[in-house]
Amino acid sequence: MTTYSAPLRDMQFVMKDLADLDAVIELPGNAEATPDLVNAVLEEAAKLASEVLSPLNKPGDAKGARLGDSGVVAADGFAAAYQQFVSGGWNGLSGDPECGGQGLPELVLTATIEMWNAANMSFALCPLLTAGAMEALKHHGSPMLKESYLAKLVTGEWTGTMNLTEPQAGSDLSAVRTSAVPRGDHYRLHGQKIFITWGDHDMAENVVHLVLARTPDAPEGVRGISLFLVPKILVNADGTLGERNDVRCVSIEHKLGIHASPTCAMSFGDKEGAVGFLVGEENKGLAHMFTMMNEARQKVGIQGLGIAERAYQQARDYAKERVQGRPVGHKAGERVAIIHHPDVRRMLMSMKTQIEAMRAFAYVMAADMDFARKHPDPAERERRQARVNLLIPVLKAWCSELGVEIASTGVQVHGGMGYVEETGASQYLRDSRIAPIYEGTTGIQAADLVGRKLALDQGATMAGLVRDMRAVERNLEDGGHEELNAIREALATAIDALQLATRWVLETVNQNPQAAMAASVNYLMLVGYVCGGWQMARAALVCKRRFQSLEDHTFYRQKLATARFYADQIRPKVDALRKAVTSGASTAMMLSEEQF
Ligand SMILES: Cc1cc2nc3c(=O)[nH]c(=O)nc-3n(C[C@H](O)[C@H](O)[C@H](O)COP(=O)(O)OP(=O)(O)OC[C@H]3O[C@@H](n4cnc5c(N)ncnc54)[C@H](O)[C@@H]3O)c2cc1C
Repeated sequence: MTTYSAPLRDMQFVMKDLADLDAVIELPGNAEATPDLVNAVLEEAAKLASEVLSPLNKPGDAKGARLGDSGVVAADGFAAAYQQFVSGGWNGLSGDPECGGQGLPELVLTATIEMWNAANMSFALCPLLTAGAMEALKHHGSPMLKESYLAKLVTGEWTGTMNLTEPQAGSDLSAVRTSAVPRGDHYRLHGQKIFITWGDHDMAENVVHLVLARTPDAPEGVRGISLFLVPKILVNADGTLGERNDVRCVSIEHKLGIHASPTCAMSFGDKEGAVGFLVGEENKGLAHMFTMMNEARQKVGIQGLGIAERAYQQARDYAKERVQGRPVGHKAGERVAIIHHPDVRRMLMSMKTQIEAMRAFAYVMAADMDFARKHPDPAERERRQARVNLLIPVLKAWCSELGVEIASTGVQVHGGMGYVEETGASQYLRDSRIAPIYEGTTGIQAADLVGRKLALDQGATMAGLVRDMRAVERNLEDGGHEELNAIREALATAIDALQLATRWVLETVNQNPQAAMAASVNYLMLVGYVCGGWQMARAALVCKRRFQSLEDHTFYRQKLATARFYADQIRPKVDALRKAVTSGASTAMMLSEEQF
């Protein structure tokens, strides 16, 4: 089994040359983030990922977390690794310095999150949920709640959870039934939540639950949902830990993958009711939770990237070792490692290329998040935020779907050894499968893109994105350079397809919403592939500039090859998706329910 090794060269290239790290660290408040510090952070994170988290991945899968008499016991070695994670300051990397965080840019955080997920997706989920809780509290919590909870969440001494799902309320949160009754300065909660990631464990001394519930007179539906903070252990006025709250994990799920991440059924209020505190305003819970969900959705997209990279490294190493058959056209002579076979090359190249495209897309969006938060010009902040809002569903769904596809290709590269558990290839496929489901399924992301985000400004933000893509297309115009010409042509047709499909969606969503929704996932995937191609084309432009200097030619030659492969072999998927979108996916509704 391959130990994970962070692809630092590509990460640094993407951060510096595509996501404009130099401009990000110039933003107000980022003075600490010098280039040397950023490099040191990446190198130390890479070490923690490969030396501490990666070795726990397979044993964690085999044995998993378990429910003991006094709660969930994390998989062997996880508690010690978590302490190392916390004491190294990793949890607070981008957290508010006033609360003990280091205030580093989202871009740097994103690279570390890729590493944690590649090394050990189950482990990485715990800080991912804490980050969401921190965000919701920072934006909507009262001064008292912030004072009592935020600093401990930032350092990671306490962890956070997100309690939305109930048996009858999954994608449709309007059906949430958990009740919250006011009692003086707090509320008492009763109800059951299911599928709560890291809902209980013994890695930290307290778990801070953010819970959706209804107050007694709340209106029906989503307008009657409020957000509450419910600690596992109540906090005394002096900040010390007090009594155990009336909330517990009643069972943990047996599931396809991420066995070391406990997925808990939580019971609130078995006795007198769990003590909870309102976060933000009553009945605005879903809007407040969206602060947390957007963060989490971006990070689930990065999970897809991380797990794909891990699957790729495993497949690449296996393909270099496994000897089978002779080279094409040779009937006799030495047998060769399977990496010599063109079809295996195709698989490895499609994995590597799409990972590079996903990374570029994800990191550029992380930089957009930094600009949206800190750029001195309010108009630029607004522009960047609009782009982030538009593309978060694409990042979440496209990268998580590709994560599954790439992990599956990884199994295929191994042949039978991929299907059995020995090599670890199958674990990556099993682990990856959850990412297109939680934090809103791919269908829900696509509905958000088509039904809300795109329509919100009648496609104006998308038109801005297209303008930026066209500028790259123009910059690629360079008579005589074969690679760049091919990449430019591919980008041009991909942008045409994006414009056509976008026009169709905008025209159709009001006239025939069923047809638009039936086409929505194909449209979302199209946007993802075009964004990936746009970033690979930008990478090719950088390579061209670097060829004229004396820099690392091997890396740039390799990058140009993957950009060309993307243009030739991946981009055609855009044509097929454009056709599927604009030919009217309402055929999906042609059969009656009984005909299925
Ligand atoms: C391992 C794991 C960890 C999880 N962690 C958490 C957690 O920490 N906190 C938490 O609150 N929840 C968590 N969840 C729950 C998760 O977010 C939900 O499973 C997910 O949102 C889907 O809801 P559902 O399972 O009820 O599926 P359903 O909503 O029943 O969906 C079933 C299918 O119908 C489709 N569908 C449903 N409604 C629509 C619609 N309007 N338009 C188009 N398609 C639709 C879906 O796309 C899907 O394909 C977790 C789940 C798992 C399995």
